[in-house]
Amino acid sequence: MTSSLATVSYIGATILFILSLGGLSNPETARRGNLFGIIGMAIAVVATVFGPRVTAAGYAWIIGALVVGGAIGLVAAKKVQMTQMPELVALMHSLVGLAACLVGFASYVDTSIEFTGAEKAIHEMEIYIGILIGAVTFSGSIIAFGKLSGRIGGKPLLLPARHWLNLIGLLVVIWFGREFLHAKDIQSGMTPLIIMTVVSLLFGIHMVMAIGGADMPVVVSMLNSYSGWAAAATGFMLSNDLLIVVGALVGSSGAILSYIMCRAMNRNFISVIAGGFGTGGGAPAAAAGGEQPQGEVVSVSALETAEMLREAKNVIIVPGYGMAVAQAQHTVYEITKLLREKGVNVRFGIHPVAGRMPGHMNVLLAEAKVPYDIVLEMDEINEDFPQTDVAMVIGANDIVNPAAQEDPQSPIAGMPVLEVWKAHTSIVMKRSMASGYAGIDNPLFYKENNRMLFGDAKKMLDEVWAALKA
Ligand code: NDP
Repeated sequence: MTSSLATVSYIGATILFILSLGGLSNPETARRGNLFGIIGMAIAVVATVFGPRVTAAGYAWIIGALVVGGAIGLVAAKKVQMTQMPELVALMHSLVGLAACLVGFASYVDTSIEFTGAEKAIHEMEIYIGILIGAVTFSGSIIAFGKLSGRIGGKPLLLPARHWLNLIGLLVVIWFGREFLHAKDIQSGMTPLIIMTVVSLLFGIHMVMAIGGADMPVVVSMLNSYSGWAAAATGFMLSNDLLIVVGALVGSSGAILSYIMCRAMNRNFISVIAGGFGTGGGAPAAAAGGEQPQGEVVSVSALETAEMLREAKNVIIVPGYGMAVAQAQHTVYEITKLLREKGVNVRFGIHPVAGRMPGHMNVLLAEAKVPYDIVLEMDEINEDFPQTDVAMVIGANDIVNPAAQEDPQSPIAGMPVLEVWKAHTSIVMKRSMASGYAGIDNPLFYKENNRMLFGDAKKMLDEVWAALKA
């Protein structure tokens, strides 16, 4: 392939990636967005492999790597449960970071292209920064994977003088950067490069270890952003324009997503990075902070739930993590269809951090073929709860916790939540009184107009569906 054809292919792939991102911003166009992304990536891979930079001797290596990598990716994607998606994503980010590090070292020891003067300095700076971002992304993502999969505790690790430690690390990196740029040959440049890599790896570990369980969603999207910048840095090292553009797209979209998630959780981005927020994810934090909710819990049966739904005119369904665990989305759809046929206005309220990854609920509902036009964002539906007869909460907890508004001492105080308690009746479907991800008790369960339907969401909804059909 000639170099001009490769450039044209890269431009085409870039346009497809931009269209892909645009498509992914809306559930209705998400499939098309994915398709654009797949075609763009296929063009990018073909143009790179058959482009002017790869010689015939390299084909065997590339094909070998494609087969091994593709097979691992295929098996991992097939095996992974929807609820384990954030872990898989964290693991994949770590690979981008690792690739940036390896490419950095390889570019440094590669003597096939001779750089001199300013060009040499710029190239070495690209290598240094690329490895730095790559190492932070790699170790940070590994720790994020450990925390999300429960292999490492969710409790934030707060070392004494941790901000000072970070500052010292930064100064060390700057100092050795200077040493690296002034190195006379590859051998003498290797020591500062390795020291910086070790410091960056430690920084990545320290950064994510200091972040508590409740802030992990933001960390995953932040690492997504870092992995984009690592890819862009790799693009600079390899003088590959496509990698630079795609890396920048991923980097900036990850940063925007982190900002949106911070807003959804009422968290300040800087304080998330600074760490120290969030509990271990299990112990109720309310005991340490806010007041424990008190009162009686009224439970209902599936039959009574069906009765309430049948008599309602307006119903809002709020799905959460438990719906994903129980795989109850298909029954939710059947119930929705049945109720709509009976003239009930059924809509869905989606919290931006419902479930365990951005868009988790949208994906599940789309999979179950729930029409997009009745799936609304939190901001679009929150003011409709007072005119709603039944708000049905399916396996959600933190995202419907009124303590966020009512208890300034609560660890989630100020986080926007779906105001289900304002509906005429709310029904919460879960297995027990256990807390959710943030590890805090939920006063919603004790409200006078709230009912609890205890049990596995799928089993309970099957019973509700059977009762509705009868
Ligand atoms: P929560 O984790 O707050 O609550 C989920 C509830 O589902 C639990 O209380 C659990 O109660 C119940 N549950 C679990 N399994 C089942 C089942 N089989 N059937 C019925 N119920 C079940 O989830 P939410 O969606 O309300 O909130 C999301 C939380 O996750 C937020 O704190 C958010 O910050 C965090 N998070 C979000 C991410 C994202 O990107 N969206 C990523 C990572 C974390 P019980 O055990 O009693 O059944």
